[in-house]
Amino acid sequence: MTSSPTRSGLHVIHIAAEMAPVAKVGGLGDVLTGLSKALQKRGHLVEIILPKYDCIQYERIHDFRALDMAVESYFDGQLFKNKVWVGTVEGLPVYFIEPHHPANFFWRGQLYGEHDDFKRFSFFSRAALELLLQAGKKPDIIHCHDWQTAFVAPLYWDLYAPKGLNSARICFTCHNFEYQGTAPASELASCGLDVHHLNRPDRMQDNFAHDRVNPVKGAIVFSNIVTTVSPTYAQEVRTAQEGWSWPKQVKRCDRVFDGRTCVLEEAMGDVKDRLGFVEQNLQTWEDHVLEELESLKKAVTGQDELRTRFMELFANLQEQLNVVKVAIAAGAVVTSSPRMDAPKPKEFGGKRDAKELDNFMWHIERYFVGTSITDEKAKGGQGLHATLNLHSKKFVGVLNGIDTDAWNPATDSYLKVQYSANDLQGKLENKAALRKHLGLSSADVKRPLVSLLSFYSIADMQHGTIFLVFKFQSMFISGHGEYAVGCITRLVPQKGVHLIRHAIYRTVELGGQFILLGSSPVPHIQSEFEGIANHFRSHEHARLVLKYDESLSHTIYAASDMFIIPSIFEPCGLTQMIAMRYGSIPIARKTGGLNDSVFDIDDDTIPVQFRNGFTFLTPDEQGLNSALERALYHCKNNGEGWRQLVQKDMNIDFSWDESSSQYEELYEKSVARARTASRA
Ligand code: ADP
Repeated sequence: MTSSPTRSGLHVIHIAAEMAPVAKVGGLGDVLTGLSKALQKRGHLVEIILPKYDCIQYERIHDFRALDMAVESYFDGQLFKNKVWVGTVEGLPVYFIEPHHPANFFWRGQLYGEHDDFKRFSFFSRAALELLLQAGKKPDIIHCHDWQTAFVAPLYWDLYAPKGLNSARICFTCHNFEYQGTAPASELASCGLDVHHLNRPDRMQDNFAHDRVNPVKGAIVFSNIVTTVSPTYAQEVRTAQEGWSWPKQVKRCDRVFDGRTCVLEEAMGDVKDRLGFVEQNLQTWEDHVLEELESLKKAVTGQDELRTRFMELFANLQEQLNVVKVAIAAGAVVTSSPRMDAPKPKEFGGKRDAKELDNFMWHIERYFVGTSITDEKAKGGQGLHATLNLHSKKFVGVLNGIDTDAWNPATDSYLKVQYSANDLQGKLENKAALRKHLGLSSADVKRPLVSLLSFYSIADMQHGTIFLVFKFQSMFISGHGEYAVGCITRLVPQKGVHLIRHAIYRTVELGGQFILLGSSPVPHIQSEFEGIANHFRSHEHARLVLKYDESLSHTIYAASDMFIIPSIFEPCGLTQMIAMRYGSIPIARKTGGLNDSVFDIDDDTIPVQFRNGFTFLTPDEQGLNSALERALYHCKNNGEGWRQLVQKDMNIDFSWDESSSQYEELYEKSVARARTASRA
């Protein structure tokens, strides 16, 4: 095994569940590798301990071999042997623990999402400390990450420091407070922790449920240093409130029936008030519609096809209104904002064929039913704000960097053509190659574009007809497919999935091409996006690839002109930084780490040299539209300005240099404090 350093650098051990590129689900894996490499470069000895998953990319590990030692660790009243493997990943020494436990903890084909995750990772946390003890290591810092290895902090102080593994300070980084890994308190005993001692409000007891323990809370309490991944997120999680609250205003959507105006008002205050208010008004609206429907049924004779379809639509109205109500109750905003490919006003004057009508019906249905993906709300510290405030002196937000060697368009071997800020021709070639690969059109057809602002229905009882009335507005002339908007993400509510969906339609409407790479662990979101992917299956200007694909992700960053990140909350976010490094301009919501790394080019309060993208605050379709449309406008109407922006973004330093020096300082101060204390 690697021996402890004799030089002045620190000995840092990371214990984590992910590490890019060998075992990565999201940003945690990137951070592990990026931060470790940067610390190593600064002269520290950095080692990493990971579970030996079956689904590791073994071909990315160098000098991989089993060590001639078996670490025995305690679990559920017994000792289990662990085989320890060692190898080099991205130049870093990594230990992989393979438990010989009958439950095959890390032989599951995936990193997370198993019914016994609490057991699997508490087992691993203990085995990792056991490895350090038995190998006689004397680290200065043990750095654990997220709830999966949060157990390390209480295990270290309660069990391992007394056994002699006591040289270290413990640093805990929470990459996302959404995931806290709570479990019934009794489960803590499996890894040897004392449930009675720890299931207390000032220790590991969950702040919501007193019979549950919360590993993240435990790590906050028991660590010497607690960090999260951006300064803005560190502020947000110290509040009980949502990071963003619904605007205290009333939104009006007018519906006109038979000359009378029925106003549907959505109170946008808190959900409860809003629900009551909306329910009341929906009822009024619903009554009107049903009344009109009855009269209509009597009035209409000899209907043409159009009228029949409208009748069918309104026959389903009751059900659809219920869907809207349920959606609103769950926090969705139901707006009258149009969809890009909603039927054009003129089409309603003349004859239509069945295909057009089908298309039209599809849009109307989506208008109602498409609200099933509800708005997610940022939830501050998700119950841990009080704990964080109590421990605020040791809590700090350090903005993540990115691994600028792995993410470098000038050397990226996944790209068809490498390019740099001084030579952007390669970016165009990558765009052309990706279009070809995904079957997107590369024709650059200029066409006028009309954007619908809103529509409402009128039942004209005198003539027995129903009209949909559209308000519309001319937009700038757009060359279709000229620019590409990319999005690479886990499709989870945190990421603003309803806004991603909207962005797809809106971008195509505005003449752009949209490429989404993502997948969802949430079945209803996955199936909704499968539906959208299907709809665009052979579309010339949008493609959804619903899987995890490292290679494709690199080519999308390179091929995109813009990159959308409409997160509801975002602890740090790496994709905006990677996108900028590849000359893809970010369109992001102002939250968490996005607020610390994306600065609007039109924001006069930000010094010009820092402005690098487009931002919006309100997480609704209008908010997103405002940023997206400004971006497209700039891109189309100020070619030279856009090129300069691309070059500027590509030259921003998103490396780990600055952030790793902050970690170094935190580590050193903590180690120095411990030494002073032990001398006193
Ligand atoms: P999170 O950690 O919340 O998932 P981040 O923005 O911090 O979000 O990190 C996401 C990382 O995962 C980025 O490196 C991004 O490129 C990558 N990623 C996300 N989804 C996919 C996907 N479907 N295929 C390939 N890479 C992906």
